[in-house]
Amino acid sequence: MVNIIMLGPPGAGKGTQAKMLVERLGIPQISTGDMLRAAVKDGTELGKKAKEYMDAGKLVPDEVVIGIVKERLAQADCERGFILDGFPRTIPQAEALDRVLEELGKRIDYVINVAVPNEELITRLTGRRTCRKCGAMYHVVFNPPREEGRCDKCGGELYQRDDDREETIRQRLEVYQAQTAPLIDYYKKKGVLYDIDGTGSIEDIFQNILKVLGA
Ligand code: ADP
Ligand code: AMP
Repeated sequence: MVNIIMLGPPGAGKGTQAKMLVERLGIPQISTGDMLRAAVKDGTELGKKAKEYMDAGKLVPDEVVIGIVKERLAQADCERGFILDGFPRTIPQAEALDRVLEELGKRIDYVINVAVPNEELITRLTGRRTCRKCGAMYHVVFNPPREEGRCDKCGGELYQRDDDREETIRQRLEVYQAQTAPLIDYYKKKGVLYDIDGTGSIEDIFQNILKVLGA
């Protein structure tokens, strides 16, 4: 059993690497961003509440995301491990996660801290395309699909996320610095933080993460 957190700014490649880890390790990816976007799409109360924060590049309130993660971690497919992607994003979220894991008799084994310079993050996010159907990520230049606008894996339509516009991206990067970057120290103190250089090829980065995991 291995419990992993993917930490890093928006565009660092957390989701890309998490999806590769899912295939390699056979444990689920828990992406709060994906869960919130699904709620927005379904028009649920949660989705309505979350949408305005997401469109503004702000964080959804802690109690909302903590609630959805708590429920998700209690599901049976997390028994053999999980990969948290995009959660926690604030110190109160990390503290709440500690409490939830303690109740479940679990702990975090690895926090993979993926570092990428800001200019590259902006290029990555403005060129990101996401599959509407399966959530796979592409980049118009760095990781293009075989057929423009179509997902290689499921044939779904690729779209540009509402919050992947330059103005919103800058806001998200500021929010990351102010609210999420303090988690690096939080997990360093716990002795579970592993730094990964997030620049270079997707495959090389994946190999470096596997080395850290001893997988
Ligand atoms: P995050 O989940 O951290 O926000 P993503 O995994 O969605 O980041 O990646 C952001 C964008 O950068 C996507 O368009 C993805 O295809 C691209 N990308 C991911 N890893 C790399 C890499 N190593 N080099 C270049 N582009 C990358
Ligand atoms: P992501 O897909 O991880 O880039 O997240 C997209 C957006 O969803 C963020 O900009 C936030 O508005 C919201 N979000 C995702 N995860 C969290 C979280 N852990 N805490 C607060 N807001 C979140």
